[in-house]
Amino acid sequence: MKKDKKYLFYRLFRYVTPYKSAIVISVFAMVAIAIFEPMVPALLTPLIDENLIKNSSESSWKIPLFLIIIFIFKGLAEYIANVSSQWIANKAISEIRQDVFEHQLLLPLKTHQNETPGRITSRFLYDIPQISASLSSAWIILIRDSLVLFALTSYLFYISWTLTIIMLLVAPPIAFLINNVGKKMRSSNVEIQEATGELAKAIDQSIKGIREIKLYGNEKQQNLTFKQVSEYIRKKTMHVVKLSAANVPTVQVLAALAVTVVIYVATLLSEQNELTPGQFVSFIAAMSLLFEPIRRLTGVNSVIQKGIAASKSIFNLLDLEQEKTNGNKNSLMKATFVFQNSDSPLISFKNVVFKYTNQDELALNNVTFEIFRNESIGVVGRSGSGKSTIFNLLSGFYKISDGQIKINSKNIEVIPLKILRKNISWVGQPVVLFDDSVKSNILVGNPNATDDEILRALDASNSKEFVEKLKNKINFSIGPNGALLSGGQCQRLAIARSLVRNAPIFLFDEATSALDSRSENLIHNAITKTKRDKTIITIAHRISTIKECDRIFVFDSGRLIQIGNHNDLIQQDGMYRELVSASEGKINYRPK
Ligand code: ADP
Ligand code: MG
Repeated sequence: MKKDKKYLFYRLFRYVTPYKSAIVISVFAMVAIAIFEPMVPALLTPLIDENLIKNSSESSWKIPLFLIIIFIFKGLAEYIANVSSQWIANKAISEIRQDVFEHQLLLPLKTHQNETPGRITSRFLYDIPQISASLSSAWIILIRDSLVLFALTSYLFYISWTLTIIMLLVAPPIAFLINNVGKKMRSSNVEIQEATGELAKAIDQSIKGIREIKLYGNEKQQNLTFKQVSEYIRKKTMHVVKLSAANVPTVQVLAALAVTVVIYVATLLSEQNELTPGQFVSFIAAMSLLFEPIRRLTGVNSVIQKGIAASKSIFNLLDLEQEKTNGNKNSLMKATFVFQNSDSPLISFKNVVFKYTNQDELALNNVTFEIFRNESIGVVGRSGSGKSTIFNLLSGFYKISDGQIKINSKNIEVIPLKILRKNISWVGQPVVLFDDSVKSNILVGNPNATDDEILRALDASNSKEFVEKLKNKINFSIGPNGALLSGGQCQRLAIARSLVRNAPIFLFDEATSALDSRSENLIHNAITKTKRDKTIITIAHRISTIKECDRIFVFDSGRLIQIGNHNDLIQQDGMYRELVSASEGKINYRPK
C-alpha cells in the first residue's frame, strides 16, 4: 500500500518536473516566508524589554518600521510562492487532462465499452480537479508550512530549550490522530468518487432517454435510482465531513493543553529569572504562530488523500493498454499499397470464429467467404445473427478467436489500423453525428474534401433537397447527434460523410433503414453509379435494398448459411426465401 502511494506520488511528480525553474522560484519564495515568519515574534523581545520596560525612547520608531518592512517582504514572498505553485500545478493538470482524453480515444473499443459514460465524464469533472487541488494547495502547504514550522521551532529552541521540548511532547499524539482519521477518509472518498460516476450515468441517461422516459412513464423508477445514489453520496460525504470536522477541534484541544502546560512552566522559569518578560511574550507569540501551519498541515491530509484516490483512477486509466496499431514501419510502407492491383480476393474470411468477451455464445461461428474487387455484396439475416460483427472485425475493432481474415492476401493483423481504416467508408448502426454543422459533419469523412465534392456527396445521398431548406443550409448546426434532423436525414448525412471519404471499401450497416423505399433506391442508384470501382458491402433489413447485389450472404446465428445472387437464392428452399417472404408479408416473421 505504502509503496503504491509512493509510486503514485512519483508519477504525479513526473508531470511537474519539467518546470524546474518555477519550482526553484516557488521554493525560494517559501524559504523566504519561513525566514520572515519568526522575525515578527523576535521583534517583540526588544520591543518589550527595551522600549516598553526600560522606556528607552531614542529608537522607538525602529521596531515598528522593521515590522512593516518584514510584512511587506513576507507578503511579496507569499504572492510569488502562491502564483508560481499554482502555475506549476495548472500546467501539470492541463497536461494530465489532455493525456487522459487522448488515451481514452486510443483505447480499444472493447475497453472503452466496458466503462459507463458517466464514469468517463466524472473523471474529467471530479477526479482531475481533485488532483489539481492536491497538487497546488498541498504543494504550498506541505513545503511552506513545514519550512515555517521548522523556522519557528528553531526560534523557540533558541529562546528556551525546556519550554520547547515540553511543547513538542504533545506533537506525536496529534500526528497519530491525524494519520488515523486520514485512512478512514480515503476509503470513503473512493466510494464517493465511484458513486459520483453512477450519478453522472443517471443524469446522462435521463438526458439522452428523456423521450423514452416520458413515453414509458419511467420517471418514478429513474427518480428512485437517482435518489438512492444521491442519498448514498450524501451519507458518505457526511461521514467524511464528520471525520474531518472532528479532526480539527481534537487537534486544537490537544494544542490548548500544550499551551496551558507551557504557560505554567514559563511562569516558573521567569520566576527564576531565566526568561525575560519580552522573551516570554515572544515565545507565546511564536508558539501561537505554529497553530495555523499545523492546522493547515493536518487539513492538507484530506486534500492529498483525495488527490491520491483520484490520481489512482487516472493512472489506472492511463495504464490500460492502447489499441494495438499493428505492423511496424516497414509494413506500414508496404501496406499503403494494400488495395491496389492483384486478382486475388480483396477480403477473405477463413473459418473465422469470434465471441464478444462478455457473451456466452459465438457471434461468428466458422465463417468462410471471399469478396472480390468491385463486387457488391448484400448481407441479410435475422437481428443478432452476426452481420454487424463482420463490419466490426473488418474495421479492426476486435481480434478474432480463431481462423483468419485477409485483406488483399494480407493478414488483417499485420495491416496498420490507420491504413486499414483509411480504406474503409462506413455508415453505422446507429448513425452517429457530431454536434456541429452539416458541412463539418461531412468533412469528418474527409477533411480535404472540396466544396464541390461535398455538394456531390449531398446530391448522391439524396440530402441536397433537405439541406437546401435548412436555415444557413450547409452551415446549419444539427444539434447533439443530429437532434434537429429526422432519423432519415441523419442517415443521409452519414451516407454523404462516407461518400466524401471515397475509400475503396464501403460498409453500409442498415444505412438506409430509416428511409422510404423510394429514397433508398435513389441513393442506391446514385452510389452504384458513382462507385463502380468500389467494393460495397451492404447489410440490410429489407430485401429490396440488396436485391440487385452481385452476391448475397445469408447469416443465421453466427453462421454463413447461404451465398448466391437473388435469383439463385430465391429458387432454393432456405432462410433467404423465408426472409423474402417475411419481408413481403407472406409469412409472419418468426422471431427467434
Ligand atoms: P446483427 O448485426 O446481425 O443484428 P450483431 O453482429 O450486431 O448482429 O451481433 C451478433 C451477436 O453479438 C448478438 O448476439 C449481439 O448481442 C452480440 N454483440 C454485438 N455487439 C456486441 C458488443 N459490442 N458486445 C457484446 N456483444 C455484442
Ligand atoms: Mg447489426
